[in-house]
Amino acid sequence: MKVNGYAATEQKARLTPYSYDLGAIGSEQVDIKVFYCGICHSDLSMINNDWGMTQYPIVPGHEIIGEVIAIGNAVKNVRVGDKVGLGWMSASCMSCEQCMDGEHHLCSKGEATIVGRNGGFADKVRGHWSWAIPLPEGIDMSKAGPLLCGGITVFNPIILAGVKPTDKVGVIGIGGLGHMALKFLKHWGCEVIAFSSNPNKKKAILNMGASQVIDSTSPEELESITGKLNFILNTTNVSLDWNSYLTALAPKGRFHTVGAVLEPMAIPAFSLIMGEKSVGGSPIGSPALTKTMLEFCVRHKIYPDVEEFPMEKVNEAIEHLENGKARFRVVLKNK
Ligand SMILES: [Zn+2]
Ligand SMILES: [Zn+2]
Repeated sequence: MKVNGYAATEQKARLTPYSYDLGAIGSEQVDIKVFYCGICHSDLSMINNDWGMTQYPIVPGHEIIGEVIAIGNAVKNVRVGDKVGLGWMSASCMSCEQCMDGEHHLCSKGEATIVGRNGGFADKVRGHWSWAIPLPEGIDMSKAGPLLCGGITVFNPIILAGVKPTDKVGVIGIGGLGHMALKFLKHWGCEVIAFSSNPNKKKAILNMGASQVIDSTSPEELESITGKLNFILNTTNVSLDWNSYLTALAPKGRFHTVGAVLEPMAIPAFSLIMGEKSVGGSPIGSPALTKTMLEFCVRHKIYPDVEEFPMEKVNEAIEHLENGKARFRVVLKNK
């Protein structure tokens, strides 16, 4: 099957039209016609080879919404014609301890959609049936793409940390990931405090349901919430004054990062010990949890705020995101 996509042929290059052949479909694989594909910061990191694992040419894109158009002869769970989503992972081994435990996203033999293979900035994409997540009835496909990577990335920590509806929580960085976290936590029942250093976003953040926006560059404002938060989710990938956030945690509070900060995080042990606090992180989430999250989104009408670009304007869309202009997530649409 021939695929028409957009690829970067070298580090930091603009994307150019690129066609390739998928070859014969594997017995457990599905081919998906791409309707929409979100742009995630990881796509930019991969184009730029920030993580040293990019193989060029690379067709980025891993927030895919589409329709199954072909299946191998041993595919389970999905059929031709099903509407599905495909996120950061495109396959897992299905037999290791993690896979057998339902934690397919922690499979060490797993395959990522845009690592060593081609993703969703294209008219078609291929993946293993386990990661082709069937979309629930009534979902808005034009906005659902970013839920498949960014969305599950911030939804999984709510489950991992056992966040309760009565909790007071904080979200650091209200961008693509953070604004989805804010909406999830609000609908979860929590009081949500947003940490943002951009005053231009304040009104939008309050409209999304934050009870308060704290200027993360102001030590006084940070101090005003000392010991109050049960859970803090960091969605930024820059080094922050971690200790001031640990101080903002209530006893037994959890600080969780999904932002891939490249420098080591300096965490003072005493800040953890005295209040039995903990620090953790996580990648995306399992296929089952992704499906549950999509159902939660339909039930509560939770969607990212998206700006739509036609697929052929992918470079303009990337530039828009790189310049920090995205409000709040960018989605590409195929004709
Ligand atoms: Zn992503
Ligand atoms: Zn596995």
